[in-house]
Amino acid sequence: MSPFSLELGEDQLAVRDWLHGFAADVMRPAAAEWDEREETPWPIIQEAAKIGIYSLDFYAQQYFDPSGVGIPVAMEELFWGDAGLGLAIVGTTLAAVAVLANGTDEQIGTWAPQMFGTPDDVKVAAFCSSEPDAGSDVSALRTRAVYDEAKDEWVLNGTKTWATNGGIAAVHVVVATVDPALGARGQASFVVPPATQGLSQGQKFKKHGIRASHTAEVVLDNVRVPGHCLLGGKERLDERLARARERAAGAAKAGSGAGKNAAMATFEASRPAVGAQAIGIARAAYEVALDYAKTRVQFGRPIIDNQGVAFTLADMRTRIDAARLLVWRASWMAANQQPFTAAEGSMSKLYAGETAKWVTAQAMQILGGNGFTREYPVERMHRDSAIYTIFEGTSEIQRLVIARTISGLPIR
Ligand SMILES: Cc1cc2nc3c(=O)[nH]c(=O)nc-3n(C[C@H](O)[C@H](O)[C@H](O)COP(=O)(O)OP(=O)(O)OC[C@H]3O[C@@H](n4cnc5c(N)ncnc54)[C@H](O)[C@@H]3O)c2cc1C
Repeated sequence: MSPFSLELGEDQLAVRDWLHGFAADVMRPAAAEWDEREETPWPIIQEAAKIGIYSLDFYAQQYFDPSGVGIPVAMEELFWGDAGLGLAIVGTTLAAVAVLANGTDEQIGTWAPQMFGTPDDVKVAAFCSSEPDAGSDVSALRTRAVYDEAKDEWVLNGTKTWATNGGIAAVHVVVATVDPALGARGQASFVVPPATQGLSQGQKFKKHGIRASHTAEVVLDNVRVPGHCLLGGKERLDERLARARERAAGAAKAGSGAGKNAAMATFEASRPAVGAQAIGIARAAYEVALDYAKTRVQFGRPIIDNQGVAFTLADMRTRIDAARLLVWRASWMAANQQPFTAAEGSMSKLYAGETAKWVTAQAMQILGGNGFTREYPVERMHRDSAIYTIFEGTSEIQRLVIARTISGLPIR
């Protein structure tokens, strides 16, 4: 276990500064344009790929940083640049984390590189869990996976929604139910390889924020994937299902401790990283507001000379720093195999998401009329921040997870 320290090491500082340069020089100048275009910013992803920011190697290096803060530091810097472009660049990692969390070493080696492609032929990946009738309630998934033993193939049918990169991805990771009677414990994750027949994009959503990130429905119509596309393998799934059935049979214990379900394993691992994205947005808006407050003169003095404005900035900075500490703590715990006994991952995402929404709203207020226009970036930051209390588990669901964990009670 690494000794306690909040100081970043030389390597971490070098990565942070390198990403900051990319965020300032490449992402910031392009942010407003891609927000307006509401299209996937392939040239920006390609540029990130050329210098190694969009690559499996880069994320693997950050992911395996023993302190745990490699990923949050990277996320904060990229999302300080811009959240829509940031999500277009890192959206693939949600699918990659699903493979890392649930796949065998062989599956990780096969699929993770294909998710990113190469700098000359960049690809993206999608993680498809949510459905029209199964958002917060992941156990209600209807997409069905049926095993065709004669052909050693899985057949997937259903409709996924809200999938980041859905339909434009090379590799899709799809969560489906194998045994609907077992609810969330009857689910498994499947890789759908590039160009598989039967997978198509449904509606592409027009959004309030993070508009450079593609979000769409994914329709699975008799999609056949080879047996080896089941993440973790059939033996492990059969064992898991058998355990879940045993527990379900003992009704009193049903639902307790029968193992993690596939979608939840992905979300748990990615929550602090998502919190760090929100912090990047909040920090960006705070910096704009601080500069503005020091230079904007009303009643013959800079507006920051009024306590009402200065105290707001003090609260903004305090909340951002508190959110970062929660994210770093959860990331350090995860990297050091410390169990989340008080749902620390959820705490970090909850607080960071709420902070981003609040801080960006305050920033708009401090900029007055300018804050309301697209001449200044804070209105975009505010629109972008709103997703952080919704995706990867809404704020209410984070509170539910925390409340259940600290109480040990099945709070509903
Ligand atoms: C831009 C965007 C990108 C996304 N990317 C992905 C992706 O890549 N992959 C993927 O699988 N999904 C993705 N999602 C889906 C996202 O995770 C869901 O939208 C989210 O989990 C909420 O589900 P829902 O929209 O169905 O809301 P609902 O579950 O219908 O919730 C509606 C409201 O009810 C509240 N609520 C629900 N249950 C409870 C409860 N028990 N107690 C208290 N309040 C409750 C919620 O907090 C919320 O306020 C994305 C969504 C968006 C908008």
